[in-house]
Amino acid sequence: MKNTPIEPESIRRDFPILGKNIRGKRLVYLDNAATTQKPSAVILAEKDFYENTNANIHRGIHSLSERATEAYEGVRTKTAAFLNVPDRRSVIFTRNATESINLVALSWARRHLEPGDEILLTMMEHHSNEVPWFMIAKETGARVVFAGILPDGTIDMTDFMSKLKPRTRLASFTHVSNVLGTINPVQEMTAAAHKAGAVVLVDGAQSVPYMPVDFTEIGADFLAFSAHKMLGPTGIGILCAKPGLLEKMEPFLGGGDMIREVRTDGATWADIPNKFEAGTPNIAGAVAFGSAIDYLSEVGMDRVREHEISITEYALDRLQSLGNLTIYGPAKAPDRGGVISFNDSVIHPHDLAQFLDSNGVAIRAGHHCAQPLHRFLNIPASARASFHIYTGRDDIDILTASITEARRYFHAR
Ligand code: PMP
Repeated sequence: MKNTPIEPESIRRDFPILGKNIRGKRLVYLDNAATTQKPSAVILAEKDFYENTNANIHRGIHSLSERATEAYEGVRTKTAAFLNVPDRRSVIFTRNATESINLVALSWARRHLEPGDEILLTMMEHHSNEVPWFMIAKETGARVVFAGILPDGTIDMTDFMSKLKPRTRLASFTHVSNVLGTINPVQEMTAAAHKAGAVVLVDGAQSVPYMPVDFTEIGADFLAFSAHKMLGPTGIGILCAKPGLLEKMEPFLGGGDMIREVRTDGATWADIPNKFEAGTPNIAGAVAFGSAIDYLSEVGMDRVREHEISITEYALDRLQSLGNLTIYGPAKAPDRGGVISFNDSVIHPHDLAQFLDSNGVAIRAGHHCAQPLHRFLNIPASARASFHIYTGRDDIDILTASITEARRYFHAR
């Protein structure tokens, strides 16, 4: 049975910022791949925590500390259920997806890689899934290798497979590209990498917010993502992992809360997850993230994905009908996430973004933290419109009308 479609106009009422005007116009927010807006429930959850529950966790015997610990640990359990992570102890709270990836780089790769080992990435990675590996490669003597992409913006599986070698110790790839929108066959890629003996990290920053993601089904060793891209607050990220691996890994930050015992001659580590959560974490952020999971679960991740396909299909169609636009990534909406990067034949993306801003339309322009991909596409920059559950056809109509207006202005010059 098909689900009832999302009504973006009524969803918008839950998001205070979407009722604001920008430069005298209704805000048309199309920069969701950078960060999403937050519903009142999430904003209030953070406020409520500070008003009623605030205390440090895991430390105090007093009631508030117990309540705060319960709230924080409750979100760990909720996150595990949301992603089908069998063991809640293998959900680690970090600051963002970037820190989650760095945790794997510093705690696992730095200790396991040797000169001549290889780290396999793809040509469509975000800098967060490139730079940490360059840093580790420099330190260990390992090499970073890139699997190419095909002209339609999909992964070149033949190239990916051929680059999985006995020396490939780690394969790290995005589930959904933040530029091309490409959805990678992560389950198949994970199985192939495992067969080659590599550890697998999936960057879920652009998939977990938009579609049902099942960590167990994917089979990867690590999954990294950020709360702020899924209606949650900034400053909280998640790393899901296989517990066996985490148990064998050394922490990369030392301090309070991550130890079993400290003596003058050294220290021993707490069990997972505490071992990887040194210092006071973003307790209020985690609690508000729990509220974002509740909000998305109530909408239903199947419906979120159906809306994403439908709005992407509409946007692709409207943008194509303008003509003279280069649109990057797969042609069909079901093959992609809710991200469309494009270039006008004349207008520089920065000029376009600035012009659209005067109409209240927020898009992103630049390399979107994916310089190697832009170099591969042979372009310095692109414009990017990205969607979420509050994006309606009216938003896309304003986007395309504003592009037409921008063209009248710039093409005539
Ligand atoms: N990976 C991808 C695919 C992303 O799109 C982003 C954010 N644009 C990140 C990683 C990094 O996320 P964060 O900045 O929240 O760490």
